[in-house]
Amino acid sequence: MNLVLLGPPGAGKGTQAKLLEDSRSLVKLSTGDMLRAAVAAGTELGRKAGDIMERGELVPDDLVIKLIAERIDAKGGVKGFILDGFPRTIAQAEALDRLLKERHKRLDRVIVMEVDDDALVERIAGRFACADCGEGYHDLYKMPKVPGVCDRCGGTQFVRRRDDNEAVVRSRLKAYHAQTEPLIDYYTRQGKVRAVDGMADIATVQEEIDQALESAGA
Ligand code: ADP
Ligand code: ADP
Ligand code: ZN
Repeated sequence: MNLVLLGPPGAGKGTQAKLLEDSRSLVKLSTGDMLRAAVAAGTELGRKAGDIMERGELVPDDLVIKLIAERIDAKGGVKGFILDGFPRTIAQAEALDRLLKERHKRLDRVIVMEVDDDALVERIAGRFACADCGEGYHDLYKMPKVPGVCDRCGGTQFVRRRDDNEAVVRSRLKAYHAQTEPLIDYYTRQGKVRAVDGMADIATVQEEIDQALESAGA
């Protein structure tokens, strides 16, 4: 089963993608994570993408499409993919359709996570992650069980994203509404969309997504 998690920045895509990866043995592909890794490694892609990401704008389609195609090919044998943060434009969605078709694969479901803009700003302001394993946390909604120690790997270093500040979040939200939201119509026409209430707590959202995937032949 291949699925897309679609939603604004801070909606909970990364959190739910990680839970699905564990519960369904699917592979999570996050273009945001890949791009941040490229920036940290100082590759040519990282140099092209870094400034754009700091402004909260979208990286050019051809760059992210190439990145996703490479990862899909590198992991060809897996049960399926959870795409987190891709596609984000109609051109990316069309490229994904072509890419999957050429590889005799298909997209089964698009989960749309609905969250109000005000809640998103609060979620992003409180977001941090384990520096070692990437496990995501929140100052109010998901603190490590033992303070200062990662639940998943025992790591004690945590990081916050440079683009997780209010000014850049506003620009990321603008990009979402202008460039990404039209994908909901695109995929509704393909009959693939299931909307979930992303305002609920993490466990409730997880249950709703599970139900939305029932009929997708998981
Ligand atoms: P996205 O990948 O969509 O940008 P994240 O999964 O990183 O979003 O979630 C953003 C922040 O909100 C993180 O700090 C995460 O721990 C927290 N979070 C995720 N889902 C929920 C939820 N349902 N309720 C409250 N906080 C949440
Ligand atoms: P969010 O938590 O906002 O959903 P991501 O980690 O998915 O953030 O993305 C962070 C940044 O990386 C985006 O603001 C954008 O600059 C870039 N990016 C990630 N995925 C894409 C994509 N599919 N197309 C274009 N830019 C992307
Ligand atoms: Zn960790």
